[in-house]
Amino acid sequence: MEIKIAAHAGFCFGVRRAVQMAEKALEDGRKVYCLGSLIHNQKVIEKLEKKGLVTVTNPSEIPMGSLFLIRSHGIDPKIVENIISQGGEILDATCPFVRRAQLVAKKFHDDGYEIVICGDPKHAEVIGINAWADNTAKIVESASEIKNLKFKGIIGVLSQTTQKIKLLEEVVVELLQKTKSLVIENTICLDSSTKQAEIVALAKEVDLVIVIGGKNSSNTGKLVQLSEAQEKPTYHIETAEELQTEWFSGVKKVGIAAGASTAKFLIDEVVDKINSLC
Ligand code: SF4
Repeated sequence: MEIKIAAHAGFCFGVRRAVQMAEKALEDGRKVYCLGSLIHNQKVIEKLEKKGLVTVTNPSEIPMGSLFLIRSHGIDPKIVENIISQGGEILDATCPFVRRAQLVAKKFHDDGYEIVICGDPKHAEVIGINAWADNTAKIVESASEIKNLKFKGIIGVLSQTTQKIKLLEEVVVELLQKTKSLVIENTICLDSSTKQAEIVALAKEVDLVIVIGGKNSSNTGKLVQLSEAQEKPTYHIETAEELQTEWFSGVKKVGIAAGASTAKFLIDEVVDKINSLC
C-alpha cells in the first residue's frame, strides 16, 4: 500500500517557534507558566511539563514575579499588563499571523468600525483578538448568523487565522447585504491556507485520509471537514494507537495530513504503524 504524506503536514511556523521558545526558557531550570495548553498536542506538552512547563487555566494561578509564556494563540493584553504589574516576566510567543489579526482588530476599533470576526467565539485565539478590540466584535461561525445582526456604520471583517477561506467569503457576501461600507482583512494564515489546499488535492488522490492532530485543534478540525467534503473516508486521530486494521481493507493509497500542532515524531509513528498493520 502506498502512503502519501501532505508536504506541509505537522508543525507550522508559529507552533514550532512557540515550542522552541519554551524549550530554550526551560533550559535555565526556571518554571515557565502558560495560560492554557501551549499547543494542542498532549504528548509534546507532557515532555515540556517534565522540564518545568506549568499549564494553568486561570491567570490567578500564576505566582507573582514568575516567567509567563504567551502561547501562539495570543492573549488579552490586559492579562499581560496585570502580570507585568505584579513583577512577572513575559516571553511572547504570539504567532506573527495572530499578531496581525490582533492589530487589525485594534485598528478597526480605533477607527470606529463595527467589527465582525469570522471564527469560533470560544477559541482562545478569537477571544484574544476580540480583546484587542475591547471586546466589541460580533463573532460569527456561519454566514447565516449575519442575517440576525444589526449594523449602523462601516463594518470591518477579519477572521480566525485557521478559518476556511470559503466561510470568510460567504460571510463577506452576507455582510454586503447589510452595508455599502465594508473593509475586509483576510487574516487567515499562510500555513492554514496551504494545508487546506493540500488536503483537498490529497483527498482526491487517495482512497483513505488519516488526519493527525488534537481533537480540540481548530486547524486540524478544518482539515477533517475539507477531506470529508471530498467524500473520502477520513479518520481523525491523535496518536498511532488509534489506528484500526479494518480501515485499510481494500485501500491501495492512503493520504496522511497533520495539523499545525502535530510533531514529526507522531507522524512517523503513524506511518510505522500503518506499515506494520498492512
Ligand atoms: S496555525 Fe497559523 S496562525 Fe496559528 S500558529 Fe500556526 S502559523 Fe501561526
